[in-house]
Amino acid sequence: MSETIYHQLGTRPVIDALGIYTDLGGSRMSSRVWGALEEANRSFVRMPELLDTTGQRLASLLGAEAARVTPGASSAIAMAVAACMTGSDFRKMEQLPQTAGMPSQVLMQRRHRYKYDRMVRLPGASLVEVGNVNGTEPDELEAAITSETAAFCLPAHLDGIPGTVPLETVASIAHGHAVPVIVDAAYLNFPVAIMRTFTARGADLAIFSAKYFGGPNTGGIICGRRALIDAVAGVDFTRFEASKYLSFGRPFKLDRQLVVGVVVALEEWLEMDHADRFAGYARSVATVARHLEGIPGVELTPMCFTMQETLEPEPVNCLQVRLTAGQDRVSEVADRLEAGDPSILVHAIGDAIVVDVECVSDEEAELIGRRLRDELAEKGTPAS
Ligand SMILES: *Cc1c(COP(=O)(O)O)cnc(C)c1O
Repeated sequence: MSETIYHQLGTRPVIDALGIYTDLGGSRMSSRVWGALEEANRSFVRMPELLDTTGQRLASLLGAEAARVTPGASSAIAMAVAACMTGSDFRKMEQLPQTAGMPSQVLMQRRHRYKYDRMVRLPGASLVEVGNVNGTEPDELEAAITSETAAFCLPAHLDGIPGTVPLETVASIAHGHAVPVIVDAAYLNFPVAIMRTFTARGADLAIFSAKYFGGPNTGGIICGRRALIDAVAGVDFTRFEASKYLSFGRPFKLDRQLVVGVVVALEEWLEMDHADRFAGYARSVATVARHLEGIPGVELTPMCFTMQETLEPEPVNCLQVRLTAGQDRVSEVADRLEAGDPSILVHAIGDAIVVDVECVSDEEAELIGRRLRDELAEKGTPAS
């Protein structure tokens, strides 16, 4: 491969046939989004004003009272919890992560515990599990609320799993005690109408990650009730610099370019012809498959690799390459693809190599097809 900026910096570039992953750099920004970053780079703005006005735009796009760009969904969880603890009290915003004098418990159903729930503790809150591994009952949620309760937290991708209380019920119980509900809907952005449903169903704050809609890897959005978004604005970096209050969220700083990029990426995502997007994936899958047709012991099936990392029939975003004869070769082939330059990263799932094409360009699809053919047809020299 030709010398890239990554090579110059001593890093091997990778071809990402895994999908959208933070540790591979998120997604590929479109030329429209990239162009917006470039344009934003040309001049300066007042960051508090930019955050406020872009927030209004995001709110109208998402059908929420108010919204704000955040540096990712993880920081949004931390700032949401901070906002629920401090309200509009600037002294409390300075005091965090020390929580004396404010409610500091965040309730979560036991079966909803997930990777990112530790962000709740960042501003000093404690996470309190309700129910057990078999599930949680509505009356257990009701009984768990005390004067120490700052918020409920609910990961949208686990909403409604067996044994759990659904968002609407959680919201009605919480609201009966004037406790807000924070929903992490990081990747629930398609069909696009779903993005408006969380606040409509009772979330006081809903959170999305821009990495999943073609925005910057470090971008995110929080939207919801006006008073709480004002409190998020109070705890974020803008007030630390622009007011006399040294509030908690100063490390969660944003670039002006990134703020603009998140808004333009969301606009593009909402306007996009998603049938076209999926047609593009189907074409890339066909490109990879074309190189592999006719190889004995190889079975090709276009599939959908889901956010839960399972395989479903539709909508197609990946090629499942089953090795019907030499299943033991799956991880060896994946390792050899990874060892090359450029390094090609694919999933090894059971008896199949799975090539996710969501982050794969046309040129890369050709290259993946050729490299896989070399490995599977066993006619090539071993990859170095
Ligand atoms: C990726 C992800 C996050 C974190 O989002 P960032 O924008 O990377 O901080 C939070 N929750 C879920 C469910 C995610 O998939």
